[in-house]
Amino acid sequence: MRGKRHPSHLSQPSQPSHLSHLSQPSQPSQPSQPSHLSQPSHLSQPSHLSQPSHLSQPSHLITPAFIDLHVHLREPGQTAKGDIAHETAAARAGGFGTVVAMANTTPPTDTVERWQAMQERFAQSAQVRVIQCACMTKDRAGREPVDAAALKTAGVIALSDDGSTPQDTGVMREVAYRAAEAGLLLIDHCEDPTSSRRGEIDFATRDLELARETGARFHLQHLSATEAVEALREAQKDGLPVSGEATPHHLAFTAAAIARWGTNAKMAPPLREEHDRQALLTAVADGTLAAIATDHAPHTAEEKARPFDEAPNGIIGLEAAFPVCYALLVKSSLMTLEDFLARLTTGPAKILDIEVPAISVELDLNSHNILDINQFHSKSLNCPWNGYPGWGKVLRVF
Ligand SMILES: [Zn+2]
Ligand SMILES: [Zn+2]
Repeated sequence: MRGKRHPSHLSQPSQPSHLSHLSQPSQPSQPSQPSHLSQPSHLSQPSHLSQPSHLSQPSHLITPAFIDLHVHLREPGQTAKGDIAHETAAARAGGFGTVVAMANTTPPTDTVERWQAMQERFAQSAQVRVIQCACMTKDRAGREPVDAAALKTAGVIALSDDGSTPQDTGVMREVAYRAAEAGLLLIDHCEDPTSSRRGEIDFATRDLELARETGARFHLQHLSATEAVEALREAQKDGLPVSGEATPHHLAFTAAAIARWGTNAKMAPPLREEHDRQALLTAVADGTLAAIATDHAPHTAEEKARPFDEAPNGIIGLEAAFPVCYALLVKSSLMTLEDFLARLTTGPAKILDIEVPAISVELDLNSHNILDINQFHSKSLNCPWNGYPGWGKVLRVF
């Protein structure tokens, strides 16, 4: 399916633009303008619109567009997998108005010059706002800290070596002191090279201790192990400036999914046990994990067709995130709609220390949504989402 769509079509709005009168939820009873042609019948009742806190049984909702703290756009250097135009079109289709792009580009985004070059690429082809991380270490090699002060001056707000973490605590300590001094957020992938449970727990614990020692803000990516979540919860009780995220796939699946989906259920950290999945659901519901982040990671069909041990880690997730997580967390009554939307909006914004951007999303909350990856916009379709019984639809981002 890769390449079936040319990026040039991506600038065409997939939802009718004549619905802009629905963008004023503060005046929900105002009648729509009848002059609009071909208004879909399911949008003919703007009285359903309201702020989340006023919700009773709405079918449609306009709310701030989602913020994804963790995506891989694959450009430059890996455009057989994905590119800015396709992956940000997927973000837009998934309800996201802002995404945070990881720095494991080729070459790695580890200097001011490379970071500024990314801004030019985004201006040319991004369909949503992109916040580009810079690396924590030069060449993302885990040995020598980047020039955090210069990156901050250029406009960087977060550093990440995602895909790995500096294994040397001395290096990470230096990164943390520099980040604290510059006022940069550290977004860390807590794992050893074997993606072991013990490694995730140990590196999460290391980072939490470094947050205490250095004052640096640490955001722990895609936690998967019960014990790591518990360590984060305890650190937050101590008042440390630390946060965490869960991915839709770690909320939806356990390692049992590998039997059905093979390499399309291979990721780092790996899918774990049911008690881990339950711990993640609980932590998202209670706010210990204040963000749902996709770790959207396109890989080619050829790469994912390799034997399991040789295939790359990662799956796409931008267009699955809302229907999957809405079903898992809200329709299951684990948390309120308002709290759930916070994990996709105010939660990640607070972690980034930014205002929620003035971008909106319109959602249809009352429809089953059996996921069809052939409707996805990503350049690669590597994922276990096809046929997944989600709930709710994203109608448009505007
Ligand atoms: Zn990662
Ligand atoms: Zn990642």
